[in-house]
Amino acid sequence: MATNQYDYDAVIVGARCAGSPTAMLLARKGYTVLVVDKATFPSDTISTHLIHPPGIAALQRWGLFDRVLAKGCPPIDTYAFDFGPFTIIGTPASAETRVAYAPRRTVLDKLLVHAASEAGAEVREGFTVEQLVIEDGCVTGVRGHGESGRTVTERARVVVGADGRYSMVAKATRPEQYNEKPQLQASYYAYWSGLPMNGRFETYIRPHRGFAAWPTNDDLTLIICGWPFAEFEANRKAIEATYLTTLDLVPSFADRVRGARREERFAGASVANYFRRPYGPGWALVGDAGYNKDFITAHGIQDAFRDAELCATALDETFSGASDFDVAMGGYQAARDAQVLPMYEFTCQLATLEPPPPEMQHLLAAMRGNQDAMDGFARTVAGATSPAEFFSAQNVARIFAVAA
Ligand SMILES: Cc1cc2nc3c(=O)[nH]c(=O)nc-3n(C[C@H](O)[C@H](O)[C@H](O)COP(=O)(O)OP(=O)(O)OC[C@H]3O[C@@H](n4cnc5c(N)ncnc54)[C@H](O)[C@@H]3O)c2cc1C
Repeated sequence: MATNQYDYDAVIVGARCAGSPTAMLLARKGYTVLVVDKATFPSDTISTHLIHPPGIAALQRWGLFDRVLAKGCPPIDTYAFDFGPFTIIGTPASAETRVAYAPRRTVLDKLLVHAASEAGAEVREGFTVEQLVIEDGCVTGVRGHGESGRTVTERARVVVGADGRYSMVAKATRPEQYNEKPQLQASYYAYWSGLPMNGRFETYIRPHRGFAAWPTNDDLTLIICGWPFAEFEANRKAIEATYLTTLDLVPSFADRVRGARREERFAGASVANYFRRPYGPGWALVGDAGYNKDFITAHGIQDAFRDAELCATALDETFSGASDFDVAMGGYQAARDAQVLPMYEFTCQLATLEPPPPEMQHLLAAMRGNQDAMDGFARTVAGATSPAEFFSAQNVARIFAVAA
């Protein structure tokens, strides 16, 4: 459908959780799409990969969920939040999907790339975009190279940056950045065998420390440990010791780990928190390139899926002439921001690893034994219920009334 002036309707930079679904959804609507990534697939990336039910629901809508299942990834139907004096145990079920899954990125990203290609998008792996082509203030293409090293230019009606939190598309277009917060915590993770989780996501929250564990492919369990960003540099020299000392804060869990075996080396990161205006003349941003929050609530993958759907819908509206680019993309930005802002604030509060404020501690304590409230909390962390709704005055009053 691209006009003669362009090679493609869309060139998408980055082919993981945001890029491949955007390419797939546009290609399914009949648009010509090129999606490139400097990586080749399957490949890993520094990220754990819990996908809450709303993210699984997106995979179901796209007809891809059975492929995740076929790779033998176990379901997670129970979330347990251990705050020390008490534990809140609930189900993260959303209206559409009861369970979460945590497919390895080697599995998930490969499957997404394949789905984009199957939908008709041209996929170019091992291709690095070096710069954007900008004419009269409008992005009209990309310049980059594949494995041969030869520089090529590809022109498109829109260039979509799905190139992660160090996005070169964002660096080149310099979008307005807002609601910024600094790095708050740092985490390291590793995969363990011999540590059955029985369908549970378990998280342990202690002052200035936290860790979580959940099952993934190949009978492995992922354990991630976090500490405040202020300790990031110092602890980099002693990752294993800091990780194991963190687990020792919960002796019963440390005992389980002593019977398990670490199968891979430690990986970890600390990330900044920001929103970026996700569009401008000839360009758009999806996934971490456009919006990022700390991974403590594990929302990045489902956020990338949501962006792919919203952005592909907005681009369809502009390509088809149904809407002006700025109007449609402004709608994408407004919908994204409205959906994520309450979770952004909640996540950034958790990521300080400070003990919850006293009123939150009272509320959490009041939930004990109240299964509806505990399920509501689990659904809130999963993004199936908005924190604005769960922490509304009315719902909080209801929880205290039951506890009285
Ligand atoms: C430690 C950690 C743990 C996390 N845990 C979770 C979790 O449990 N659950 C969850 O939902 N989220 C988690 N996240 C967040 C999640 O990883 C991201 O939100 C998600 O990967 C965003 O997807 P994306 O497609 O936007 O970016 P990415 O996955 O970063 O993909 C960007 C792609 O762009 C490519 N690229 C970049 N520049 C170029 C270029 N110039 N040319 C060509 N290609 C380029 C890269 O090679 C890469 O493949 C975690 C993140 C971290 C750091």
